[in-house]
Amino acid sequence: MAEDKIKEGYTEVDFRNGASGVFTFAETFEGEIQPVSFEILRPARKMAEKLGTKVTSVLIGYNVKDKAKELIYRGADRVIVIDDERLRVYTTLPYAKAITEVIKKEKPEIFLFGATTTGRDLGPRIAARINVGLSADCTDFDVGDYAYRKKKQYFRNVAYFIRPSFEEAKLATIIGPWAFPQMATARPGVNEPFPRDTQRNGEIIEFSVDFSDEDFPVEVLETVKNIEETVDFDSAQVIVSGGLGVGKEGFEMLKTLVHAINENGQDAVLGASRAAVDAGFVPHKHQIGQTGRTVRPGLYLAFGISGAIQHIEGMKHSKVVVSVNIDRNANIFNVSNIGIVDDYKNIVPVLIEKVKNGYKFPDFKKKKED
Ligand SMILES: Cc1cc2nc3c(=O)[nH]c(=O)nc-3n(C[C@H](O)[C@H](O)[C@H](O)COP(=O)(O)OP(=O)(O)OC[C@H]3O[C@@H](n4cnc5c(N)ncnc54)[C@H](O)[C@@H]3O)c2cc1C
Repeated sequence: MAEDKIKEGYTEVDFRNGASGVFTFAETFEGEIQPVSFEILRPARKMAEKLGTKVTSVLIGYNVKDKAKELIYRGADRVIVIDDERLRVYTTLPYAKAITEVIKKEKPEIFLFGATTTGRDLGPRIAARINVGLSADCTDFDVGDYAYRKKKQYFRNVAYFIRPSFEEAKLATIIGPWAFPQMATARPGVNEPFPRDTQRNGEIIEFSVDFSDEDFPVEVLETVKNIEETVDFDSAQVIVSGGLGVGKEGFEMLKTLVHAINENGQDAVLGASRAAVDAGFVPHKHQIGQTGRTVRPGLYLAFGISGAIQHIEGMKHSKVVVSVNIDRNANIFNVSNIGIVDDYKNIVPVLIEKVKNGYKFPDFKKKKED
């Protein structure tokens, strides 16, 4: 491709100007590295390996240095640690200053943040400071070439930031090799962290930032946690999910099934499609899909869910999918290991009965990991 384009009169552009390395922001809360920071090491490694470069995580906080090796165990080659008592709690301006200084010194080629509340606040702030673009809420990452037709320029190994667009119905690939680093936020829950490998070695570098009092215009007096109970999709072995097709009455049945599975010693939680949430059958915290949660259970049971692309996006990483739908052409069957064409009312009560009598679902998650 590259050679063909050069023959066609394209000029190859050396756009990096010395920038190299894939960097990630390691987010902490109360001194603990947040899961998204391990998740983003997977796409970071994928890109770094294609570029033949290293992955560096930037870890900021107070008394966090001993946590740096955890990032190495999960895929980082280097960890830059900025440890300062005044950075104990996240505030935008000092964190933005710290990372901007790291960028100016290290000149990374790519910088990734988790698309969490913190990452969504911090990433754009830094991008604006150094005058680069930022692709928000990406679900996939890659590296590839780009032929810029208008100017007949050819760019090798550009970062591809991929995210749903057009009301989440299509995937767009966004590039920006005009200014460095190429920056993006990654949607949490999409990338599976690498298993913890304590044999991995890496470099831990202390980095100091010359802060002045003006860098801390905001003082956090108190942090109040939202104590609304969340749905623990991450540790669930089984997700029992319902769609518009089961109605309110069906959700009562599904809740009974979830309860029976838990009583029987297996972790199960209730999931739902957006249509079911919009209909008011269950709160939004149960929603799975592009605008809900991304889940990876061992077993995903889908009742009365048609299988819209936005729903599939959130559950396609399930190890085994069993779906029940009265419509044999329902799209959910295309992503199911087992599809049952039937009314959910004929299946769910039988399952409840079986589980109450001691039936345990196979632990597919564990089986695949073993
Ligand atoms: C920007 C955007 C973001 C979105 N984000 C999400 C998201 O995060 N998650 C999400 O789920 N959707 C999302 N959607 C909505 C998505 O496009 C679909 O509208 C939605 O997933 C449909 O939900 P459903 O399958 O429950 O309902 P329907 O599509 O109405 O399907 C109901 C199914 O139930 C079956 N059925 C009916 N009666 C029975 C019965 N008795 N027994 C068994 N089966 C029965 C029917 O055959 C049908 O297949 C989004 C849409 C947009 C535009």
